[in-house]
Order: sequence, then structure tokens, then C-alpha cells
Amino acid sequence: MSKNQNKTGSYGFFNCIEKNFDKAAQFISIEKGLLEQIKACNSVYRMHFPVKIGKEIKVIEAYRVQHSHHKLPCKGGIRYSMKVNQDEIMTLAALMTYKCAIVDVPFGGAKGGIKIDPQTISSENIEKITRRYTSELIKKNFIGPGIDVPAPDYGTGEREMSWIFDTFLSLRSGDVDALACVTGKPVSQGGVRGRKEATGLGVFYGIRELCHVKEDMYSVGLDVGLVGKKIIIQGLGNVGYHAASFFHESGAIIIALAEREGAIYNKKGLNVSKVFLHLKNNGSILNFPEAKNIKNTEKALELECDILIPAALENVIHKNNANRIKAKIIGEAANGPITPEADEILDKKGVIIVPDIYLNAGGVTVSYFEWLKNLSHVRYGRMEKKFRENVNAEFLKVIETVCKKPISIEEKKMILRGPREIDLVRSGLEDTMINGFHKICDLKKSLKIENMRTAAFVLSINKIIDSYERLGIFP
Ligand code: GLU
Repeated sequence: MSKNQNKTGSYGFFNCIEKNFDKAAQFISIEKGLLEQIKACNSVYRMHFPVKIGKEIKVIEAYRVQHSHHKLPCKGGIRYSMKVNQDEIMTLAALMTYKCAIVDVPFGGAKGGIKIDPQTISSENIEKITRRYTSELIKKNFIGPGIDVPAPDYGTGEREMSWIFDTFLSLRSGDVDALACVTGKPVSQGGVRGRKEATGLGVFYGIRELCHVKEDMYSVGLDVGLVGKKIIIQGLGNVGYHAASFFHESGAIIIALAEREGAIYNKKGLNVSKVFLHLKNNGSILNFPEAKNIKNTEKALELECDILIPAALENVIHKNNANRIKAKIIGEAANGPITPEADEILDKKGVIIVPDIYLNAGGVTVSYFEWLKNLSHVRYGRMEKKFRENVNAEFLKVIETVCKKPISIEEKKMILRGPREIDLVRSGLEDTMINGFHKICDLKKSLKIENMRTAAFVLSINKIIDSYERLGIFP
């Protein structure tokens, strides 16, 4: 057993990322010290604070890790889960650094976590814990529009981000940029339209792009295009839920959906919106009338399919099940769902893995748009929507005169429309995901790198090196 392996024989999560980093470093010729600096976590804040729950005082364990300060602010979500630990949060913070660099989002990576199970705690108590955590971050200067900007992650959402903002504002009243201290807020509280579904939509754009690359599709024996591809999604949180909807709408066939309590399967395809309605009404996806139950949820990962999307937690594909995975493509919607040992097994089998540091970057990309919106204090499209509509109307008049043919009302409506915030956000996200994909593939080709993950790391590390070289080392 190597020094990096834990008792169960698998690597610690941070070591997994170090392994991926080291593979990529072989393609980069740069001073070793700089690579070591990029790899290291700059600041780790581990805290314990008391919260009164009922008549009892509970001591809460929480973290905020800033992996890199090569760009500021630092950026990354906050997760609420009983599995939260320092190694996990450090790793997720590092992934944020690499992710942001790939999609040209000018932030250093960070991550936070509170060790609680939000499903067993009342919302009043979750609010108390969230507000106390925020005040701890403020005390230590670990939050602020130019310092470190949290966002939602596993177990958190708009509600928590709203509380974080409100706590920040009450302790920093008068800060005109306070809204930009956190992203993923509700639209009514300074959020941006399209943030909620951004990670799932980014996953969809990334996989759609891959499915249009002939060479790649033929290499795994699939036809070009997304229509008709058989997909399994594991995890129906915010990311999996939206990804499933976008894939379904685009004509892909969702053959299985997996949740904690079990999975459901129908080889002809599941009607995703009906499944979600069933989930809402019954609190579980199991016993959906048009599907078979699979009691052992892990078995769903091993079903025959074209594309597997793990969208829940890390390390779900490991050395003990990797050999049984039958998917031809794996899209990492979650952070770190495949261990390095499993990665090697799947690589040998010829599976195309679209790595997390690219594929789930849609969330932070739209968080960047939200942060910019908050700093500019104006909604996207507000200044130009009407102007564009007026210009379009003029164009239309000219076209009708030149063509001597009237344009139908439906066509007119489409052409006249000026951009709304959601249109701008989605097109910005689509462009980012398409660009990121091709940059990774171009680098993979030009350096003859064996897989997308290593190519994505090389792309990312090169960009971080570039900023360090321009910044210099102080003093
Ligand atoms: N938690 C998300 C992630 O892991 C979003 C982070 C953010 O928007 O800052 O990418």
C-alpha cells in the first residue's frame, strides 16, 4: 500500500486530484516549485461553533478552504452533508481552481462545508447554522465580493444563499457591492435568471458537443448526435434533475434514474417530467408506474447504456465496480465521481470520460455572470433590449420593402425580440461550454494526450501558470 492510500486501499480524495495533476504535469515544462504552489491549498479554515438547537447546545464542525489566490475573489460552493471533512473540502476547492481556469472565469478556487444533515434539521435551525457560519467567515475575512464568494453546492440552494447575503449585509451595512458576496441567490434577491439550471444545462451542452464529434463517436461505436442515445443519470439533486430534463427534451432516451433509495429503469425510456411529479408526490422515485425498481441503487451504474451521468457525490465509480460499467461515455456532472484506479480501468476499456473540471463548470460560469450583474447593479438586457427591438423593426421594414413580401406575425415576433436576461445568460453559457470543449480537444490532439481529463488539467494548469508568471512572486 503506498503512503497515499488509506486503510481501505483507496486514495484520499485530495491525493486523487494530485494524481491527475501529476499526470498532466508531464506535459508541462515549468519549474517544479511553481507546480507545487499551484497544487497546494493556500488557506484552510476549520471552525467549530456552538448553536442552540431546542434546549441543547450543539457544536457544529465547518470549513472554508481557499485553494488558490492567483485570481481574486476565490469562488466555490458550500455543501451541507454529514460526509463533510477537511480532505473533501480541500479537494473540491482545488477542483474549483482548475474548473474556473478552463472556462475563463477569473476566480481562484474555494469550497465550504458544514457537517450537518439538512434533511434531519428544521429550516429554522438550518438558518441559524447558516447565519452563524457566515458571521464566522466575516470575522476571519473569508467572505466578500472581492475576497471569497460562496455559492450553492450539495445540500444547499437559493434559500441558504439568501441568508448568507442577508447576514453579510447586516454586518457590513453600507457596502454598495454587498450583493456580490454570494451567488446562486433567488432572482428577487439579486440572483441572475438561469443560475439554478446552469450546471445541468452546462452538462447537457458539453455532452451534446461531444456527441457531434464523428471521430469520438465512431471510436465507441455510436452514431453522431444526441437523439436516441440511451442515458442513465445518478442523482436527482439540482444538477441531475436539470440535466435529465435537458437530455429528455433534446430527444435522448433516459433509461434509468438513480437516487439514494434505489433506481428506476425502463429500457424504452422514462418520461422525466412524469417521474419528477411522482417524486414530488411520493417523496421517492421508486414505484413509478412505467418503470422497474432496482433496489440496489449502485447497480444502476452498471446497466447497459450509451452515456452515464453521475450527478451526486464523489467516488461512486471505484476499482471494485469500474470493470462492470458498460457505458461508452461517462459525463462527470458530480465532482470527482471516478477514483484514479477506476479511471485507469475505464481508460483501458476505451470509455470516453468527460471530466468534472470541464463538464460541471456551467454553475460557476453563470455564478460569474451573477457576480458581474451584482457589481454593475443592472439586469442583463435592461439597457439594450428595447434598442435592439427598435433596430430589428427597422431592418424588418427594409426587408419587407425589398422583398415586396409581408412577413408572418409569428416570424415577426421572433425577429423583433430583443435579448432578455435569460437569453443572454444561456447564450453566454453555451458559448463557454462549446469553447471549453474544443480547447481541451485541440490540446489533446496537438500534445497527443491519451484522455480528456489529462488534457483538461494541462489546459487549466497552463492558464494558472500564465497568471502566476504575469503576477510574479511577492516579495
Ligand atoms: N458548487 C458549484 C460547483 O461545484 C458552483 C460553484 C459556484 O458557482 O461558485 O461548481
